[in-house]
Amino acid sequence: MQYEYAGAPVDPGRGFSGRILRVFEVGHALEDLAVRWLRMAGFELHNQKANGGQFGFSVAGGRIKGHVDRIITAAPPELGLSFPMLWECKTMADKHWKACVKSGVAVTKPVYAAQMATYQAYMEGSVEGISRNPALFTAINKDTQELWFELVPFDAGLAQKMSDRAVRVIQATEAGELLPRGFAEASHFECKFCSYAQRCWGGV
Ligand code: SF4
Repeated sequence: MQYEYAGAPVDPGRGFSGRILRVFEVGHALEDLAVRWLRMAGFELHNQKANGGQFGFSVAGGRIKGHVDRIITAAPPELGLSFPMLWECKTMADKHWKACVKSGVAVTKPVYAAQMATYQAYMEGSVEGISRNPALFTAINKDTQELWFELVPFDAGLAQKMSDRAVRVIQATEAGELLPRGFAEASHFECKFCSYAQRCWGGV
């Protein structure tokens, strides 16, 4: 996180390949399809504010910012949902999708859960009530097109933890300090997939 915030170049060969960029684009296209499917089912989803501009937040002088996938403002009454509701959509390969269905997003994809908690916390100032209502997490199975919906209650503790971590990274980077590594071994799975592993462990 600190390397990324500091704008350090990723390790040689770890930039986004054409294939990964296509994966991102397919993800965006599937998200647009999910919006269409939900609208056909009677949901109202928005990503633009009434006075224009995308729903999002920017704090700490723009150093912490993000845009939400959508805000849900209405759904079929028989579902008993409450609004406004954060909508977060991800696409997953079959194996990961099945794990998410079995154990839930907070267990299988804690990064997504942290993202939702952070967005709910920071959006509360502009979208009142968004942290009072659970977020609707939607996962699209990229192999079968099955859909998984999960209501994720706001986790204030997780939002605070992520916010504190972001502040620590900003303060340390601006003071020219390198924070301790997040993991004790280079063999940790997070490090294996990290774009800065060589810089972090190899002294590049
Ligand atoms: S290699 Fe591991 S410890 Fe180093 S920045 Fe990446 S995830 Fe963090």
